[in-house]
Amino acid sequence: MQGQEKFDYIVVGAGPAGSAFALQAGDKLRILLLDGSFRGQKPCGGLLAPQAARALAEMGLTLPREVLADPQIFAVRTMDLQTGAERSYPRNYVNMDRAAFDGWLRRLAGAKATVLQARATAVRPLEQGGWAVDYVTAAGERETAQGAAVVGADGAGGIVRRSCFAERRILHYTAIQQWFTLRDAPLYACVFHRPTSESCSWLFCKDRKLAFGGAFAPSGARAGFEEQKRILQEQYGFSMAQPLRTEACVVYRPRSKRDLCLGAGGVYLLGEAAGLISPSSFEGISYALRSGCRLAEAALAGGEVGRNYRRAAGALCREVLSRRWKRPFMYWPKLRGLVLKSGVQALKGSK
Ligand SMILES: Cc1cc2nc3c(=O)[nH]c(=O)nc-3n(C[C@H](O)[C@H](O)[C@H](O)COP(=O)(O)OP(=O)(O)OC[C@H]3O[C@@H](n4cnc5c(N)ncnc54)[C@H](O)[C@@H]3O)c2cc1C
Repeated sequence: MQGQEKFDYIVVGAGPAGSAFALQAGDKLRILLLDGSFRGQKPCGGLLAPQAARALAEMGLTLPREVLADPQIFAVRTMDLQTGAERSYPRNYVNMDRAAFDGWLRRLAGAKATVLQARATAVRPLEQGGWAVDYVTAAGERETAQGAAVVGADGAGGIVRRSCFAERRILHYTAIQQWFTLRDAPLYACVFHRPTSESCSWLFCKDRKLAFGGAFAPSGARAGFEEQKRILQEQYGFSMAQPLRTEACVVYRPRSKRDLCLGAGGVYLLGEAAGLISPSSFEGISYALRSGCRLAEAALAGGEVGRNYRRAAGALCREVLSRRWKRPFMYWPKLRGLVLKSGVQALKGSK
């Protein structure tokens, strides 16, 4: 059925980026949104940063109560497992249920676009111009949709970037996250342990559950995760004996301009698929929302969409790359040690 219809845009992925694009452009353009989320929810901290809240405000949206998680936490505890150093810093994140957030945005997008529960399996140029996307529906049927353009909003490791921009490889980690029944005081913490990860890990609470997750080099990721968990249990007393569930996914870490790929020639990338994620904190929802909005503006403006989009998203790219300056202070053990010791910007009384 979808195969006979020709869309202006076929969007692969109905996370925040794909839904934001459909929501902003769906009134004027014929959009097919392929939603592969029936295959499982991606692991995420579900913390909405102030830039993401601002993006929602710019989209004219207010966050419904069913999207919120309990409790709201206004401090991040920074823990260096190697040295035992700790500090707490103020943070203004909204604690959300990520699956509920994505579902809410997707429902809004569904009022303006055709949303199909399906997983894209191939993206191909058509001889007569335009693009074909092969997909498998949630019911297992194989179909093809045709569109004038394709949008890769399919996150890290997505099929659109891999198929159309294979040469734009980007450093990635394996993120592993486990959930437990919360038996300790609620907290949000950023965890460092150089022997097992050059990146960071995190602890957060949602609705009487504790999640522990981290980003690790793909080889030895599970061993690194288990070692950090052991330290948190044995040295810090966290209760993590029986995981309720374990999740894993790929997460990108952009290091240079080359890692950011907005697309060209009728195939455009949004959000994490484009490499738009903070290389220091892995905050990515705000970039996903804003890139979706920028592409919608570019598509509606007339003229060359690719050029419009690159121009409109230039500030986002610069913002991502500017986050690199924070990395040494977070990830170089000596510098981090000095920052923690200094107490600069720390909450009063935290140590
Ligand atoms: C462990 C972890 C914790 C994080 N915590 C936070 C946080 O607290 N706050 C924050 O701001 N950011 C966080 N991030 C980053 C954030 O999750 C991403 O940057 C953000 O989700 C990117 O949004 P997106 O729409 O680009 O892609 P995604 O959210 O990854 O959405 C992609 C969508 O595409 C779908 N999809 C994929 N392949 C296909 C296919 N072939 N066909 C159809 N659909 C497909 C997926 O099912 C998914 O629904 C975290 C990342 C990780 C890994």
